[in-house]
Amino acid sequence: MAEFPPLRDDLVELTGYHSPQVEVPVRLNTNESPYAPPETFLRELEAGLRGIDFHRYPDRSATELRAATGASLRQPVERVFCGNGSNEVLQCLLLAFGGPGRRAAVFRPSYLLHEHIARITGTEVVGGGRRADFTIDPDEALGVLADARPEITFLCTPNNPTGVVEPRETVEAVLDAAPGLVVIDEAYGEFAPWSALELVADDRPLVVVRTFSKAWSLAAVRLGACVAPPRVVEALEAVALPYHLPAFTQLAGRLALGHEEETRHRVDVILAERERIQAALERMDGVASWPSGANFLLFRPHAPAGEVWRRLLDAGVLVRDCSSWEGLEGCLRVSVGTPEENDAFLDALSAAVQTEVVS
Ligand SMILES: *Cc1c(COP(=O)(O)O)cnc(C)c1O
Repeated sequence: MAEFPPLRDDLVELTGYHSPQVEVPVRLNTNESPYAPPETFLRELEAGLRGIDFHRYPDRSATELRAATGASLRQPVERVFCGNGSNEVLQCLLLAFGGPGRRAAVFRPSYLLHEHIARITGTEVVGGGRRADFTIDPDEALGVLADARPEITFLCTPNNPTGVVEPRETVEAVLDAAPGLVVIDEAYGEFAPWSALELVADDRPLVVVRTFSKAWSLAAVRLGACVAPPRVVEALEAVALPYHLPAFTQLAGRLALGHEEETRHRVDVILAERERIQAALERMDGVASWPSGANFLLFRPHAPAGEVWRRLLDAGVLVRDCSSWEGLEGCLRVSVGTPEENDAFLDALSAAVQTEVVS
């Protein structure tokens, strides 16, 4: 009788990437924008749908979208590649430059999908650590790079889930020492005080990855991009499936980029709220927290994290439980929401950490 082939040996240990989606009034667990995209954008999108040739394949090289993305990031179109979420961009990078017999370096704790997608593509993962304040120690990083000689080195700044922004000197030190491609995930770049975009050059093996899922309020569309030397963009185009980027996605991205001013305004509102939450966390007894350059904050209640997470959920507030991640024992992460959502979070947290926890 025919049998199902077993899953690839190297994938058996892999568990999928999950962020539990629970229906609660206040969802602050996946760092999306708390704001829907602008009404004018939605009207333009509705009208634009009429203009799509649905019976034809979309523009394979997504030229207009890439040009618009490049214009917004002050980069030429030849340096821009777009994918179905930045996750697809990361996957293409690993397909092109990783794979069996090759290595990718990560500095933990960081975004789990870097190592997850690396493993799926058969790329070996080597891990470096971080200091107690979650920044990368350049000396330690250089040691990891010298030992492992990775084809790809991942940095994430601001780092998810810690919020830490890496200093420019650290990024430059890693760039100078890395034996292969350096991929900087700037999913939260719009919220940060500096960007590595200015370091991208045609003769430097550096890729900066961006997304429309956070600051641009388009998580549902699944659109991401990277800025890289043209030869890297060509390699990514070679491994991406033909016509991978739907006409609808290309349209949505192009139209969204026409609303840069509103996006910037929303980012400013979110930054002000982040500062307000941060100040409240610093004043709160029973909680330690870290400064953030992103649209979320990492904090560690003195009480057991799982218990506090459950109490927040009971109060209708969903945050991310990171307490089982290596190096993040006892930590929770909260996304910045609307002012009302943030008030609900702060009220619920202060009640949750004040009451004696029985566990
Ligand atoms: C949210 C996030 C992304 C976004 O992924 P998309 O596929 O673009 O939605 C990428 N990198 C990091 C570090 C993130 O936190």
